[in-house]
Amino acid sequence: MDGTADRILLSPPDVGPLEESYLLRALRSGWVAPVGPEVEAFEREVAARVGRSHAVALSSGTAGLHLALIALGTRPGDAVVVPTLTFVATANAVVYTGAEPVLVDCDPESGNLDPALLERTLDELRRAGRRVAAVLPVDMFGSCADYDRILPICAAAGVPVIEDAAEALGAVRDGRPAASFGQAAVLSFNGNKIITTSGGGMLVSDDHDLVAHCRYLSTQARQPVRHYEHTDTGYNYRLSNLLAALGRAQLRRLDGMLARRRAHRERYAKLFAATPGVRLLGSGDIGANCWLTSIVVDRAAAGWQAAELARHMDAHEIETRPIWKPMHLQPVFASARTVLSGAAERLFASGLTLPSGSAMTDQQLDRVAATIADFLDRR
Ligand SMILES: *Cc1c(COP(=O)(O)O)cnc(C)c1O
Repeated sequence: MDGTADRILLSPPDVGPLEESYLLRALRSGWVAPVGPEVEAFEREVAARVGRSHAVALSSGTAGLHLALIALGTRPGDAVVVPTLTFVATANAVVYTGAEPVLVDCDPESGNLDPALLERTLDELRRAGRRVAAVLPVDMFGSCADYDRILPICAAAGVPVIEDAAEALGAVRDGRPAASFGQAAVLSFNGNKIITTSGGGMLVSDDHDLVAHCRYLSTQARQPVRHYEHTDTGYNYRLSNLLAALGRAQLRRLDGMLARRRAHRERYAKLFAATPGVRLLGSGDIGANCWLTSIVVDRAAAGWQAAELARHMDAHEIETRPIWKPMHLQPVFASARTVLSGAAERLFASGLTLPSGSAMTDQQLDRVAATIADFLDRR
């Protein structure tokens, strides 16, 4: 296989010499533990970037969602509202607490939680006498949810909001950065995300006590005494100092990486501009971080379906993926309570996510574009 035939991936890690030097420096400092100066600096830098006053670095975004739910008092038997169109981690974190995820459908344009359905859901749960511990909106593929509408609805119902900003670092909405909405927000630094620590996450909030409590829970809930004393069940959820150093290098490159992903999206927009029946998911959102770019194909208008393009791309060693399979279609959540409009199912059936990574070179993107153009020409 020659160089140009290497498989092009959806969103691989974008790391290089800067990351190497930061990692080495941390290793040589002797702080090889889930504590140290890189962790503290990474927390300060991310908090500043997203406009929050407090942050705790964690081993994953999933851990952040879990701790945020616990810190906001989620108890077994509570209901927690989750969009059905998301990555499974959002709903899994709810299950870890013993609460029940209630799966709500999305807006068809953006794929984000539908505010009108959210309002109806909270109303129904209230009438059924259910305690709702939290609403967990997701910033789908790096487009902030409609907080203008969601936050007042939740405030009126007296329900706290945890922003799942795992995909959204660098996005903005109405002049506010992603991860600045709600009582707490959670970021992910998994290998495929906009910046990576190979695996990691962060919980951010303006509530000092909430973040302090999550920090305590993330280190096995150790009481501040010399012998190990425990009055709560804790977790081992802290981020390694080495990985925090990797994260700091990535953060320094964030703006450049955002610009690359945006340029990819603009290229796709041009490529499909004259193709009937094809739109870009959430294309109206100028504040998106463009983590992943997806097309939505109206089969009747286009004369082809997303799965056909997926097969063509795969045959040319280019990775694509459907938009998230909705949680209510997942066997593990088959019996979950749902409030559905059909929008998430339609996006799953008609969407296709295209290579979007910031490490993708111009030559690779040329190859992706030529392969798509070839597919369209044959229709
Ligand atoms: C990636 C992701 C998570 C989980 O983050 P991890 O760091 O992989 O645990 C949670 N929610 C959404 C929407 C995600 O995309």
